[in-house]
Amino acid sequence: MSNEGKALKEKLFHKNKNGWEKLSNEQLEEIFKFADEYMYYLNSSKTEKEIVQNSKEILRKNGFVDIEEKEELKAGDRVFYSNHGRSLYVAVIGEEVLCKGLRVVAAHCDSPRIDLKQNPVYEDTELAMFKTHYYGGIKKYQWTNIPLSMHGIIVKEDGEKIEISIGEKEEDPIFTISDLLPHLAGEQMERKLKDGVQGEELNVLAGSIPYEDDTISERVKLNILNLLNQKYGITEADFASSEIEFVPAFKAKSLGLDYSMIGGYGQDDKVCCYTALRGILNIQNPKKTAVCVLTDKEEVGFNGVTGMYTMNFEDFVLEILDKKGESAPSSLQRTFSNSKAISADVDAAYNPNYPSAFEKNNTAYLGKGVTLVKYSGVRGKSGSSEAPAEFVAEIRKIYDSVGTKYQPCELGKVDKGGGGTIALTLANRGMEVVDSGVPVMGMHSPFEITSKYDVYSAYKGYEAFYQS
Ligand code: MN
Ligand code: MN
Repeated sequence: MSNEGKALKEKLFHKNKNGWEKLSNEQLEEIFKFADEYMYYLNSSKTEKEIVQNSKEILRKNGFVDIEEKEELKAGDRVFYSNHGRSLYVAVIGEEVLCKGLRVVAAHCDSPRIDLKQNPVYEDTELAMFKTHYYGGIKKYQWTNIPLSMHGIIVKEDGEKIEISIGEKEEDPIFTISDLLPHLAGEQMERKLKDGVQGEELNVLAGSIPYEDDTISERVKLNILNLLNQKYGITEADFASSEIEFVPAFKAKSLGLDYSMIGGYGQDDKVCCYTALRGILNIQNPKKTAVCVLTDKEEVGFNGVTGMYTMNFEDFVLEILDKKGESAPSSLQRTFSNSKAISADVDAAYNPNYPSAFEKNNTAYLGKGVTLVKYSGVRGKSGSSEAPAEFVAEIRKIYDSVGTKYQPCELGKVDKGGGGTIALTLANRGMEVVDSGVPVMGMHSPFEITSKYDVYSAYKGYEAFYQS
C-alpha cells in the first residue's frame, strides 16, 4: 500500500525540484560557460546606453543589420532598430505574414542608479561634491560607502556628444557617497530605516585639490571644472544637457564556494536582456517573426520617448510591414492582437534572512528555474495585466518541450508590497503576455544575486518561445 501512495503522490504533486540535481557534466559546463559570457556582458554594459551599444555589436557579428539599411524585408532577414541609443528592437523575419502575430520577448535595459542633477558641482569645506537624484526604487543606505563609477553623456550646444566612463579600468579613479561614522550617528540611527540616508544626502565626493590662485573662491570646484574642461572641453553650463549615471564600480563575479550564483550590479533586468538577446541569435527561419525588445525607462514607469509606451515601437513594426509589402490600414493592430509576448523581467527570489516577506508556496527560489508570473501588481492585483490561463498553458508546454524548469510565483506576500512590469504596455497593445524571468535576491541593491542555473534556463526558454 505504501508504494501505491508514493506512486500517486509522484503523479499528482507539483514537483519543484532543485535544478542543479541530475545534470550531466556537459550540461554543467554549458551552464557555467554561458554564465561567464553573461558576466562579461554585464561588466561591459552598466547603463542602458552601453547595453544598446554592446548588444548592437553582438547583433552585427551575428548577421543582423540596421533596418535602415534594408530596402525590403523577406523571411529569414535579421534586423534591429536603435531607439535613440537607449532602447533596441530586434527582429528575425518569419515566413508567415506579420498580421498572424509576432513572438516578442521584452526585457528592460535600465537599472536603478544614482543620476547627477543638472547643476551638480559644488564645493563644501574645500571638497568638490556632486548633487544627485536617484533613479528607480532604491534603499538609499545601500548606495553609500561603495565604489562608484561615472557613466554617461554630455551633449554640447553644437551637438557634440561626449561619452564618459570613469571608474571601470584598473587605473581609473572611482567615486563614493560617504555615510556618517557610527560614533556620530546617534541621531541618524534614530531615524526610520527608509530615512536613514535621505535623497539630499546622496552627494558624491569628487575632488579635493584647490586651483593654484588664492585670490579667488571655490578653488576646488574650479580645479574639477578645469580638469573636465581640459579632458572633454566642457563648461559647467554643459551639465544642463547631460545624462551622468553613477553605478557600482565593482565587477559581477561568481558567488558561493560552488560558483553556482552570480553577484553583480544591474541584473534587474540585464539578465533578461542578455538571455533574450542570446536566444534570438539562434533563431534562423522562424514561422512567426521573432522580436526581442530591450527597453529603457522601466524603472520609472515605462514613459518617455525610449520607454515601452513609446510609439517608436509601433514605428518599428510598421517599418517591417512596409518593407515586407504587407501594409494595410488594419495590419498593425491585427499584428499586435495576434501577437504573444513574454515580459522578460526578474522577480524576487526567496531570501532566508527575511522569511516573513515571502509566502513559501508562491515564491520563486534561486536555482529552480525561471519565474512564471501570471499577474503582478499591488493589493488586489491592481495595475496587473494578468495573463489569460490559456496563454500560461501554452508557455508551460513550450518550456516543458525543451526542459526549461519554471516556477509559478508572485512577488512576496499579499499586501506586503508588490510591483509591476512592462507586461501591461504590451497587453494594452493587444498582445497576450506573461511575465517570465530570472529570480533575483537583493533586487535593486548595488549587488544583486542570481543563480547560473536560472540564467541558462531563461536563455533556453526564450529561444524556444521565439520559435513557437
Ligand atoms: Mn525589472
Ligand atoms: Mn526593477
